[in-house]
Amino acid sequence: MIIASNFKTNYTRGSAKAFIQAIQAFIANTKSEQQVRIFAPFTALDRFDEVETLKVGAQNFYPVQNGSFTGEIGFEQLEEFGIQTVLIGHSERRHILKESQSLSAQKYDFAKARESEIIYCIGEPAEIRVQGIDAVMSYLWEQFEGIDISYDKLIIAYEPVWAIGTGLTASLEDIEEVLTRLRDKLCAPLLYGGSVKVENIETILHVNACDGVLVGTASWNENAFCEMIRIA
Ligand code: PGA
Repeated sequence: MIIASNFKTNYTRGSAKAFIQAIQAFIANTKSEQQVRIFAPFTALDRFDEVETLKVGAQNFYPVQNGSFTGEIGFEQLEEFGIQTVLIGHSERRHILKESQSLSAQKYDFAKARESEIIYCIGEPAEIRVQGIDAVMSYLWEQFEGIDISYDKLIIAYEPVWAIGTGLTASLEDIEEVLTRLRDKLCAPLLYGGSVKVENIETILHVNACDGVLVGTASWNENAFCEMIRIA
């Protein structure tokens, strides 16, 4: 299973490092074989002694190696820390930061050309969800425009926008319906994200076609995140 934590705009350099080291120690002590990913803020990226099963990733980047893009982080700056996995298309970037599908696709092409693992996020807002599964699927397929779905280091995270950070989780039936339809057309591992927590991770991981989870809020607690890795 893939168990990923998205720190978002939380943790300082010191507290992120302590968290990551604690997770490394937990994985080593329990000999966990789950694939763990931690998406830390730029300010907390560092060279970590990566164990086979834990990768530290970047939540964002600008699709250039380097250049004149004031305030942005290019790929050379990620490579300095050995970053091998990136998040692209997270709903907070799409909806709050107004990132277009074309920018997500540019980032995707750039990270793919550098052979980085990509966790590519898709998800529908509440007003699409109420229109039913066909409307949801056509909204989700539009988020694949310009994306090479055959890339072998692609992981997809299905995260309904209305379930992120709200405490509302999609029903198991809804998750299964979406993931199964994605599975028909995609070979990439499929994650679910949106208010995953210790109390619901086990049933979510049992959903047909679910290969893991992307967790925000509930992962910002060392014990809870370790417990989720243990349950997986
Ligand atoms: P959440 O966030 O677990 O707080 O809903 C998930 C995400 O944004 O990836």
